[in-house]
Amino acid sequence: MRILVCGGAGYIGSHACVTLCSRGHHVVIADSGVNSSPRVLQRLQRLVGAPVSLHRVDIRDRRAMAALFATYHFDAVLHFAALKAVGESCRKPLDYFDNNIGGTIALLQSMQEAGVRRLVFSSSATVYGDPSQVPVREDAGLQALNPYGRTKLVAEQLIEDLCRADDRFRAANLRYFNPVGAHPSGLIGEDPCGEPNNLMPYICQVAVGQRDHLRVFGGDYPTVDGTGVRDYIHVVDLAQAHADALEYMVSADRGFTVNLGTGRGISVLELVHAFERASGQRIPYEIVERRPGDSAEVFADPALAQQLLGWRAQYDVDAMCRDAWHWQAMNPQGYRSPLRRAAAPRVERPRRAVARLAGA
Ligand code: NAD
Ligand code: UDP
Repeated sequence: MRILVCGGAGYIGSHACVTLCSRGHHVVIADSGVNSSPRVLQRLQRLVGAPVSLHRVDIRDRRAMAALFATYHFDAVLHFAALKAVGESCRKPLDYFDNNIGGTIALLQSMQEAGVRRLVFSSSATVYGDPSQVPVREDAGLQALNPYGRTKLVAEQLIEDLCRADDRFRAANLRYFNPVGAHPSGLIGEDPCGEPNNLMPYICQVAVGQRDHLRVFGGDYPTVDGTGVRDYIHVVDLAQAHADALEYMVSADRGFTVNLGTGRGISVLELVHAFERASGQRIPYEIVERRPGDSAEVFADPALAQQLLGWRAQYDVDAMCRDAWHWQAMNPQGYRSPLRRAAAPRVERPRRAVARLAGA
């Protein structure tokens, strides 16, 4: 398939591009660059062993998007393009509504105009708010706890309404739990701007000496060791799930909503200790007040994804930490650093993709 990957230069989108290419699909990236580096392109091309098209386009720019749809005749769209920082969304809610909700509406309009009717949407476990029960199933109650969460919830609803109005439109709604890790090559990974909001990139920055210690938000939750529990999922597993979801949506000719998690809860301190084992680095930490709005324990029931897509997370927490550390050690300043020579990347060349793309 020829696939438009909106936000494909970002963390999860870039990994999805590698997987899609390895399965013989042809990807074209549209990314505004609001949270990505142009350097990802060279890394991606090295990984897939073929040229990749990256267009610096904002999905809200209808004219530029129309030109892309006219040039490429896409079979499907993967929609990763969004702003994602919860704290920033509380300070600048209108920017989030404009980019994430406005962007989704504009993208759906562009798809409709071009007659493209298959969408894979990046949603989030944040739509469950503070779940009353774990593991969380897809039929749990939905609630937005902050403007970012609201954009995901509203976007899900907009897409659902469109599916109702147009019986030929198919959407796969993927609710990610906590994506972490990086491609095992160390060539692509998560590159947060400024102080990371999320736990794993924060730990990584402590490990390379950019921050002196981790602040653990809360040590008195009713959990295994008092710290918050989440469902961390390796980004390569997530990337595989996108390809599986797209292929299932096409073959079964139906839309669906699934959780993407491992089904296993890991506490903050368990993750810290796993990271220390994987990296050989000590991660100093201090337990501080709870972070407002945090839940004690959130992890997925991933059974539906397995039942529909035959997908199951393959990587465990040790692999997540190993690959996160490998990426960080090779790229201490993210894409701003030249690749470290010491650790030569393991480049896995997906042979099918090379052949298909080279001939394209
Ligand atoms: P990211 O910021 O690394 O990637 C998003 C990409 O979209 C960036 O490259 C950015 O430049 C681009 N973008 C943003 N707005 C755009 C626009 N209007 N037009 C074109 N490009 C635009 O984030 P990520 O972690 O890869 O997340 C991808 C998606 O998954 C997002 O929708 C996010 O909300 C969702 N998600 C992420 C997480 C997570 O923890 N990383 C968890 C759940 C859901
Ligand atoms: N966390 C922490 N210190 C940090 C960042 C996060 O202790 O610097 C904790 C947070 O309270 C939560 C877990 O780590 O229990 C995961 O947080 P993250 O922001 O990565 O994901 P989310 O809470 O959005 O699921």
